[in-house]
Amino acid sequence: MTDQPSLAIVLSVTSFGEADKIVTLYSREFGKITSIAKGAKRSKQRFVNKLEPFTCLEISCRPPKKGSLYFLSEADLVNAHLSLRTTYPRYVSATFINELVQRFSGEQDPDPAVFALLAWAFDSIEQEENPGKTTSLFLLRLLGICGYQPQLDHCGSCHKSIEQEAHFTLYPGNGTLFCGSCRRNIEGSSLSLTRQTLKFLHSGQQLQLRRLNRLQMSKATAYQALAVLFSYSRHILQQDIHSWEQLKKIAAPPSR
Ligand SMILES: [Zn+2]
Repeated sequence: MTDQPSLAIVLSVTSFGEADKIVTLYSREFGKITSIAKGAKRSKQRFVNKLEPFTCLEISCRPPKKGSLYFLSEADLVNAHLSLRTTYPRYVSATFINELVQRFSGEQDPDPAVFALLAWAFDSIEQEENPGKTTSLFLLRLLGICGYQPQLDHCGSCHKSIEQEAHFTLYPGNGTLFCGSCRRNIEGSSLSLTRQTLKFLHSGQQLQLRRLNRLQMSKATAYQALAVLFSYSRHILQQDIHSWEQLKKIAAPPSR
């Protein structure tokens, strides 16, 4: 089989033996793949500064004849996203996004929309000072792509619009929104959302990816959105997201 090109973003890198590296990538053509970069620890020219987390690459790789390990033959740098590794809040946001992509995507199950969203998120973190904004918009869109789009413009029971009431509640069990009167009939934990946060999230579902950054929101709104979407995601995944504790600290608004 011949080498095939793809755009790809590095999710993680580990050393393998004396000279090689194992690189997990999200590629546009093949989805999430694990690859081996032979001689990556020795050959300075071919892979130097390229096989780093969050880097966007143009790769050539050979799909495996058997098993799941791709052979990474070439990598050209498209965007190093250097500040995601050198600035702590950006590193934390990127790590969270990285972890969610890994949890939500299966191996070799390509979805160009996930690739585009990931590339958008890493570019956005470099330009945006509010970590809650990029991470909440990312999570919102990822949930939609993966088939878990929460419905955010009306009560899921009586269909009252978000324009008609100031506070709603989201049930992480099924991503359903309830108004104040309907939620009295529901058992289990829930998370409140103000109308302002819901409007922001609803716009975040509608806009084209390249326009998403135009949405303006306060740190408090972004954090409320992030915390609710995170709780819903955890319910879907039934797994801990390790980077959440760090992200929470940098995304939360200062307490009064
Ligand atoms: Zn209702």
